[in-house]
Amino acid sequence: MMGPDVKLRDFSQDHRALALNTATLGHNLEGHGAGWSPEQVIDACAERGFGAIAWWRREIGERAIEIGERMRSTGLEVCGLCRSPFLVGPLAPVERQVIMDDFKASIDMAQALGSSCLTLVVGGVIENSHSQRESLNEVAQIVAEMAPYSYKAGVKLALEPLNPVYGGNRSCLVTVRDAVDLCDQIDHPAVAIAIDVYHVWWDLLLGESLLEAGADRIAGYHLCDWLADTTDVLLDRGMMGDGVADLKHLRAQVEAAGYDGYCEVEIFSANNWWKRDPAEVLDICVERFRSVC
Ligand code: ZN
Repeated sequence: MMGPDVKLRDFSQDHRALALNTATLGHNLEGHGAGWSPEQVIDACAERGFGAIAWWRREIGERAIEIGERMRSTGLEVCGLCRSPFLVGPLAPVERQVIMDDFKASIDMAQALGSSCLTLVVGGVIENSHSQRESLNEVAQIVAEMAPYSYKAGVKLALEPLNPVYGGNRSCLVTVRDAVDLCDQIDHPAVAIAIDVYHVWWDLLLGESLLEAGADRIAGYHLCDWLADTTDVLLDRGMMGDGVADLKHLRAQVEAAGYDGYCEVEIFSANNWWKRDPAEVLDICVERFRSVC
């Protein structure tokens, strides 16, 4: 387990490891946020010294290559694309072929953008199965089938375990422990996991699960905070420092497992951060990243 001697990367004077997930500006959902164009987002992040951006598919549309090039010309990396379709459960398309086609399309978009990583949100427990095990087995089968395609595209599939409150509809994968087991089960180099503070902050077994995962299987680290009096588990995430998560300790556990990649701010916040000027939100992300993450 973690000791107090783990050397954290020092971000207090240097935030090149900071990445923006554009969900922080509300761009993941129709009708939310200030509606900045990708170009505006890129320029604002470049100006502030962010290192990378993770996008949502709805922002990219048919412009993946163009946006990827624009990113690289400003010195920014594309650290991720959100996301795969739901693979199982009540929100997944009914037809397997529709799921596979959309899964492929999301990998193609990640490749065209030059993103090394595609986030997978696997979907909830299969209806009428009452079985998380059966649902996870189905996920394993689908991801294993797609892994070689993704590998050829140079895109890592990042299984993101979600907070257990989403177990019913959005993700039957709810702990990092289970995500590591799922990686073992699939056993393919294109398959890894993404760690998100919102989903793992409560997990006292996080450190040991991550050590078992190892650096090669940690494809991302997402930042936000859990508000003590959260009003909506989907759209009321907190800015780092405003909630109860032990952010430095969480990062220490991720880094102790060998992770040295981007820390990606991902704040779904319909009634607070999405209503503010994106420029202000980005400034505060930088300041909090340097001070409390
Ligand atoms: Zn996330």
